[in-house]
Amino acid sequence: MQSNHGTTVIANARNLLTMAENAQDHIGLVTNGFLGIRGEKIVAVGTEKAVYEALGGPPEQVIDASGMTVLPGFVDAHTHVVFGGTRVAEYAASMTPEGYERFKSSGALKGLEATIRMTREADRENLKAQAKKRILDMLEHGTTTVESKSGYGLDIATELKQLMVNRELDEELPVDIVSTFLGAHGWPPEMTKEDYLHHLLEEMMPRIAATGLAEFCDIWCDEGHFSREESELVLSKGRALGMEPKIHTGAYSYIGGGDLAAEMKMVSTEHLNYTPPKTLKKLAEAGVPGVLLPGTDFSVRHPMPVKGRDLIDAGMTVALGTNCCPGAWITSMQLVMTLICRNHGLTVEEALRAATLGSARAIRRDSDRGSLEVGKLADIQIWDTPHYEDVIYHLGENQVTMVFKRGLMVIDRKKTQE
Ligand SMILES: [Zn+2]
Repeated sequence: MQSNHGTTVIANARNLLTMAENAQDHIGLVTNGFLGIRGEKIVAVGTEKAVYEALGGPPEQVIDASGMTVLPGFVDAHTHVVFGGTRVAEYAASMTPEGYERFKSSGALKGLEATIRMTREADRENLKAQAKKRILDMLEHGTTTVESKSGYGLDIATELKQLMVNRELDEELPVDIVSTFLGAHGWPPEMTKEDYLHHLLEEMMPRIAATGLAEFCDIWCDEGHFSREESELVLSKGRALGMEPKIHTGAYSYIGGGDLAAEMKMVSTEHLNYTPPKTLKKLAEAGVPGVLLPGTDFSVRHPMPVKGRDLIDAGMTVALGTNCCPGAWITSMQLVMTLICRNHGLTVEEALRAATLGSARAIRRDSDRGSLEVGKLADIQIWDTPHYEDVIYHLGENQVTMVFKRGLMVIDRKKTQE
């Protein structure tokens, strides 16, 4: 990205949703609000007078936001956005039981195994081009920071290829990409679980950690996947190697991953469908955020949709992610908000906070983003509506008219529509 030393005022926003830390209304609503930007950062928020005083001179650019809604760029806290190919045939077949039976008996690869094959086969440029398209779509829908996991290679070369794509796209695109190593997404078809675990712990993890390409380490802890004990082994090793732990847990059963997350004070815990209320309480006390993925519950027609309300009632920090992956191809955090409110019991204000500050906390970026506060990055989206609730009401419509990343306007949909 080009560097930016300019000044901008976003003026007279009908609704300025600051997501300020102590906001009683969750969203820190300021009506007819102003916001000042210098370089990459926010230098003032509030009244016209306060903002112009802080800038100490006329800004280079004024954006008239009257009648509009201004809020932080979304943080997508959980994605598998770097993958090869498509599973559209499998997804379409899954609409009816008969269709899915036919698909399975056709002998075509399905699920994780199919994606491993296609991700291994894609060269780095091709894999990058596929992921880039999806990440630009995320940006178009207001997302300015994306967490992105490996885990579709389950061999050193492919895992490194995925993480390199994360790094290159982070450098090339006006979206920050935060990398997670998910070598324990499963085990590859050519190895037993035991052999793979040994390979992962002894060879892959030290190699990956040495590259510095992954900030976090993740695992899928569930029946039929990795046990609580195996998760502890892998994530402790990751932590010792400098990769802080995250965990997919309770998605399809509960075998203790949530309790382990609380005990290890992990960065975050994801899915949580089957996690018992007493464990949610424990996670809240340990300060571990819960990342909810309602797009997946929708796409897989989940038998036990996550009870989002229970996390809020337990006092947890709630975060949201698209979980963009071949099984749930979602790039819009706005759609995720629609789903979490209608299907999982959050209010629109709780969902807005989860998609911004909550998600920033779930990837340890809340010190510099997730809310519109002085000193934070000017990662901002503007919606062409005076009703912020439209985000969950206008189904499937993109509310975004402009996006700023680190103080620079990177999306201007008005212009492209003219
Ligand atoms: Zn996931």
